[in-house]
Amino acid sequence: MKIWDVIVIGGGPAGLNAALVLGRSLRKTVIIDAETPRNNVTLFSHGFLTRDGEKPQRFRNIAVAQLKKYKTIAKTKDIVKTITKQNDLFFIETKSNHIFQSKKVIVATGRVEELPDIKGLQDVFGTSVFVCPYCDGWEHKDEPLAVFGSGKTIVHFTSLISNWSRDVVVFTNGETLKRADKQELIDHHIKVVESPILECQSKEGKLQSIRVEQKESICRTAGFIMGTGKKESFPLPESLGIKRNERGEYETDAHGETTVEGLYVIGDAKHSFTGLVCAAGEGYEAGVKINQALVNEQWASIK
Ligand SMILES: Cc1cc2nc3c(=O)[nH]c(=O)nc-3n(C[C@H](O)[C@H](O)[C@H](O)COP(=O)(O)OP(=O)(O)OC[C@H]3O[C@@H](n4cnc5c(N)ncnc54)[C@H](O)[C@@H]3O)c2cc1C
Repeated sequence: MKIWDVIVIGGGPAGLNAALVLGRSLRKTVIIDAETPRNNVTLFSHGFLTRDGEKPQRFRNIAVAQLKKYKTIAKTKDIVKTITKQNDLFFIETKSNHIFQSKKVIVATGRVEELPDIKGLQDVFGTSVFVCPYCDGWEHKDEPLAVFGSGKTIVHFTSLISNWSRDVVVFTNGETLKRADKQELIDHHIKVVESPILECQSKEGKLQSIRVEQKESICRTAGFIMGTGKKESFPLPESLGIKRNERGEYETDAHGETTVEGLYVIGDAKHSFTGLVCAAGEGYEAGVKINQALVNEQWASIK
């Protein structure tokens, strides 16, 4: 069986940028990607210099096209099921029963969005309801905005959203906020609606209003939702023995290497939300560190 220098699991900005660095370092690298990117639902991506306003699929197509030049790189569409490590080699098994072998592995599998069960929310998610104000706030500045959320970070998140519009209503969908949090929001002229949401009403993906129990529809043209990306797309097997930090993230060094030598976790797979440019940056970092490790191993083996 062929031994790859590196297997990159996940072909988002993190994995693809790692592959670019590795290809340019002449490393035999295979990218295994399920092709289900997290930001698929959104029409345009923002905040990546030279790519601001780009369609997510076009962003990926450009990246994949640029990788074609590097003949040591292969890419396959598949879903990784398991990783094991024996001695110094990693074994990766996919859904289509292929087994790949490599010296190093980069896990860049991102997160899965999980939306609360609110009628009509799916229709507006990614088109007028978003997760990140840095990604989509500017396009909706000064509009009547909704915040969907509750819990201990509600004040922090709402104060952030209020940077883009002073007209913000918080919808907790039936959750009761802590009295002090609610008062703080009210003191900042933010309305809090704690009734369960019956429906997000929209037209062609554009949020128009939010209908709640015992109240009329409240007009809102865009919104931001908290806590949708908690679920890892590919939780690593516990048998690998990787440590996690107190926030539940995989413990890594500054370049993404975990406590298992040769195994890297980068991008949203590590943080809950990295953003495109930082995910690509982490890919670059991991690629450089892996190439240096392989150079050192080769150098030491030639006497
Ligand atoms: C609605 C929305 C809008 C966003 N807008 C922006 C924006 O405008 N600007 C911005 O900077 N960021 C934006 N983001 C965030 C951005 O999409 C992520 O931070 C970024 O994509 C993370 O990159 P990644 O490479 O870590 O993961 P992803 O881009 O999610 O890529 C992970 C890849 O791994 C694959 N994968 C998963 N599991 C497996 C498996 N078991 N085997 C093989 N492959 C697997 C997936 O199919 C996917 O292709 C947005 C996010 C959302 C949800």
